[in-house]
Amino acid sequence: VAKKEGKSRYCFFQENMLIEHQRKIDIANAIEPALERNEFYICYQPKVNGDGHPRGVEALIRWESSVLGMVPPSDFIPIAERSGKISMLTDWVVETVCRDVADYFQHLPEPILVSLNLSAYDLKRYQFSDFIRSVFNKYEVRPDLIEFEVTEHAYLDNLDMASRFFNDISELGCRVALDDFGTGYSSLSYLTRIPIDLIKIDKQFVENIGLTARDDALVLTIIEMAKRLGIELCAEGVETQAQRSFLKIHGCNLMQGYLFARPLPLEALKAHFSDVA
Ligand code: C2E
Ligand code: MG
Ligand code: MG
Ligand code: MG
Repeated sequence: VAKKEGKSRYCFFQENMLIEHQRKIDIANAIEPALERNEFYICYQPKVNGDGHPRGVEALIRWESSVLGMVPPSDFIPIAERSGKISMLTDWVVETVCRDVADYFQHLPEPILVSLNLSAYDLKRYQFSDFIRSVFNKYEVRPDLIEFEVTEHAYLDNLDMASRFFNDISELGCRVALDDFGTGYSSLSYLTRIPIDLIKIDKQFVENIGLTARDDALVLTIIEMAKRLGIELCAEGVETQAQRSFLKIHGCNLMQGYLFARPLPLEALKAHFSDVA
């Protein structure tokens, strides 16, 4: 019986893997047609200061597929990266965000910073910064309102190409944020080697605030490190008042999380801003 069960379990496992594999292929193949059918859209999540006032927003891509339903970015971004489709998605994000900046964010009484996420692959793209420059020109976007979020993994993938990219976009006047800080496997040396304006503490550290003295010590250490380096700091995934007050008391002045606002489509964000103003 055990043998029989073992075998059927094995088949079940294999079948699941096949289904998983097929889904990845379906997702990869659906990306290009989805772009043509306008199935992607951007949500913006506010970044607030200690008092809860919006200081910026992060653009996060959404996909409501007519074939696959809602597909989260954590599913399709890695697939887009591996299948080479990420560059067309990134280009679409850059263009859409710049249009929204030109139409809305730039005209707020106090214009706010808009950040967007890049993949490791984007940093290695030949002439990607020229594309960014051309989109800025097309929409007459203020480059100083644009921030690019990259992970340490993206940087370490190809130091030469990444350095060139960072130089190009600093010259353009854009900002660079280091995303998901602390989750990589890298050394800290890149903190002095690339022009980082902002570090984002990954939400796994924020989640653990208040659990043990060591968890708290880790967050305090990151806050202290950013202070000493003169780099701004933003905590992601802030969900509770306890997390918020811990971060505020200890001098982390930017926060992002469901406690303040979820990622919202532009129209809903406008409504949210007129509520909190
Ligand atoms: P990320 O850049 O670290 O973005 C933060 C993620 O945390 C977002 O998930 C956001 O919705 C979620 N989040 C924000 N506040 C909270 C909170 O209080 N609690 C919890 N549990 N989660 C919170 P999302 O939108 O699903 O995106 C996941 C990841 O997908 C992003 O992580 C980013 O790496 C990637 N991504 C999203 N949009 C883009 C894009 O346009 N281009 C690229 N290359 N990657 C993107
Ligand atoms: Mg991000
Ligand atoms: Mg992040
Ligand atoms: Mg994260």
